[in-house]
Formats: sequence, C-alpha cells, structure tokens
Amino acid sequence: MRFNILTLFPGFFEVFRDESIIGRAILHKLIEIRVINIRDFAYDRHRQADDTPFGGGGGMIMKVEPLMRALATVTGPVIYTSPQGERFTQQMAEEFARLPELTIIAGHYEGIDERVIEAGVDREISIGDYVLTGGELPAMVIIDAVARLVEGVIKKESRENDSFSAGLLDYPQYTRPYEYENMRVPEILISGHHKNIDLWRLKESLRATYKKRPDLLENREFSALEKKLYALVREEEKEKTMLYQVRGKSPRLGKNNIVLPGASVIGDVTTGKNVSIWFHTVVRGDAAPIVIGDNSNVQDNSVVHVEKGKGVAIGNNVTIGHNCVIHGCSIGDNCLIGMGAIILSDSVIPENCLVAAGAVVGPKLNAAAGSLIAGNPAKVLKTMEESHMKLLKYANDEYLERLEYYQEELQLAEKQGSQIP
Ligand code: SAM
Repeated sequence: MRFNILTLFPGFFEVFRDESIIGRAILHKLIEIRVINIRDFAYDRHRQADDTPFGGGGGMIMKVEPLMRALATVTGPVIYTSPQGERFTQQMAEEFARLPELTIIAGHYEGIDERVIEAGVDREISIGDYVLTGGELPAMVIIDAVARLVEGVIKKESRENDSFSAGLLDYPQYTRPYEYENMRVPEILISGHHKNIDLWRLKESLRATYKKRPDLLENREFSALEKKLYALVREEEKEKTMLYQVRGKSPRLGKNNIVLPGASVIGDVTTGKNVSIWFHTVVRGDAAPIVIGDNSNVQDNSVVHVEKGKGVAIGNNVTIGHNCVIHGCSIGDNCLIGMGAIILSDSVIPENCLVAAGAVVGPKLNAAAGSLIAGNPAKVLKTMEESHMKLLKYANDEYLERLEYYQEELQLAEKQGSQIP
C-alpha cells in the first residue's frame, strides 16, 4: 500500500519512516510512504506556499495552487487532517487498509484554503477534539493505525484481539516476572489450559469494555457465551465496589445476592442464596463472623455489627427493615424486624417472631418462638396469630421479588424534568 503525505515540513517523517514496525514494513516493501513537499509545487520566486487570510485576522493559510498541483501527482482517496473532521476510528483504519493508495494532507498554521477541501479532498478526518499546530502528527497517527493492518506488517494473531477489532477492548496482558512487588500474574495464564485461558481473556475483554468504554457495548450483538460472561462480569463488578477485606477475611456471598450502591460488606461475612443488602446498609464482620441465611434481606441504612467473640447469626427468610441496628445477636428463621428496631448484643430472637418498629431488644428478653415483641425495653406482647405470620411471609416474599427486578433493571437515571437554564 502506498501512502502519500502532502506537507510543508517533510522532516517530521524521517524518524517515522525509519523506525520499528513501520521502518520494517517499508524495508520489506509491504508499504511505501511518499513524503511530498508542497513547497516544491509553489512556482513563484519565493516558493510561497502560504499567505495571509482574506478578511484579515491572524495566522497564515496554505495556498490553493501548490496544494492542487501536488494533488495532481497522486491517485486514490484524499484525506485532509482537520480538527473539524469525522473522528478517526479503528473501522476507518480497516477501511483504508484495503486501499492501494491513500493521500493525506497535513495542514499547518491556520489551515488550508477552503477551495482545496471543496475541489480536492474526499474526507476530513480529526484525531480528537483538540487543536494541534499541524497535521503531521495526525498523518502519522493515521498511517500507523492503517499500516499495521496491511497484510504481513504484523502477525494476524497479534492484532486479532486488539481493542476495537472485535468491538471490545483488549484483555489485560502480562509478561515476566511472574511476581512484582506482591502483584502476581493471574494463575490461569500459567495453567497451560488454553481453553480456560481463552475464556478468561474473553471475560476480561468484556470487563475492560464494561468498565472503560461501556458505550461500545450498547448495540453489541452478544453471542450466547458472551452474554453469560458479561452477566458474571457485571455482577462481580457491582459487588467489588462494596466488599472489603479486613484482617485477611473477605465476605463470601452466596448465589444470586445483591448488594446495593452505598452498602458495604466488610470482613468475615457469609451469606446464603438470594440475600439482598439494601442501599447504605453496613454489614461489618470485623471482630467476629456474621452469617446471613437464605432469602433474607437487610434494608436501607441498617447496621449489622459484631463484638469481639460475639458474632451475628441471622436465619433464613428474615426481613430486617430500614434503619435497624443488629449487634452481636442471633435472629431465628422467618423473623421480621420492624423499622428502626435495635437488637443489642447477646439477644436471642427465636424463629417466627415479629419485632415491632422501634423496639429495643436486650439480652434479658426471654421470648419463645412465634412471639410478638415490642417496646423499650422490649417485651413479649403476645403469641403470634395467623395474620401476623402471613405478614412475615408477605414482607419476605416482597423483598425476594424486589431482588430479582433490581438485579435486572437498576441503573443510573438520566436527569429528568425542567432544567434551570
Ligand atoms: N483553524 C483550524 C480550525 O480551528 O479548524 C485549526 C488549524 S490547526 C492550528 C493546523 C492544522 O493542524 C490543521 O489544518 C490540521 O491539518 C491539523 N490539526 C490540528 N488539530 C487536528 C486534529 N485534532 N485532528 C487532525 N488534524 C488536526
């Protein structure tokens, strides 16, 4: 493939044409880079290729005649590098790499006479929303991106997974040493298991794209495998921001859990399946373990904490309302802890109990299973009736339903409604 560059400053391209991959590609005649000095086509006494703008104003404009004469010596599409152009992309690079010849005009000063763009340019291309002193660097950027796609310039497998080639960003890469300042290369990459390595790489490509350029995923047609891996990545990333290790202990969350934004889960915390921990709740297992059973939920702004040697055990199907404090205690299966209740250290709430909103439960409460507990200090008011039991189940089921649709649908909302101008 042949590249022609029209420039007032040919010196810019000397090193570019000699070094590294581009230098080798030229040597092996895979590409050719012809640097055309526009001044050679300025025929007046001073070989003037630029002039002051009509209408006044600062700077110089590159003249139409030398540029048009220089363009007459080339064939194929002509690009003008310009901050006003379409943004250069990998897709464009792929398109250009199929051409036998491409010409690039490197503007300088205040740019080129508009008539060149009208009469001699096929496309204006920008390398980003900023203004450079000249089009020489953009020309090198474009040639570099295109040349590496020309057959034989680099090995196909070296660029197959490059960012953007398959619509995803590249996966993380490592080389020797295996360990650097306590940072190790992921085990999988030294396992020798190529199928697993490929899976890991695809997953990490999806992760990198999700974290750095989620816009690339908006209209992607995911394969079945990609869909699965992408769901995993999203789950892992959501959890990562809210889980903390302390004293070597990290939370171990069960299947289908959700930890909502602003909530933190810290240290020795183990949860069963379908557990939901709602906005701004803190579950802090720093001095003893916390266990939360299947299908339980801890709602917004609650605190679950331990004392040295006094962990927290929360059973299955437990609902803990907003703003509760659950401290070094145990709560049996199917309980409902009302909003704002405080359960102090060493307290035991047996199964099937309802603790009313605002109750303060201490270790002396001696409740039987199925009690209705209320007050400060909390007492057993009566044994639960059928209607209370239904309430416990209803509250828990509601949160299981919410868990499902929050998993699927929660996203940041666009600002809506009237805007102050
Ligand atoms: N007055 C021009 C404008 O605002 O559109 C900018 C001229 S700039 C100082 C000089 C030359 O640098 C341009 O003619 C163009 O060739 C090149 N250039 C500057 N920024 C560029 C960018 N972001 N992408 C591509 N080319 C750029």
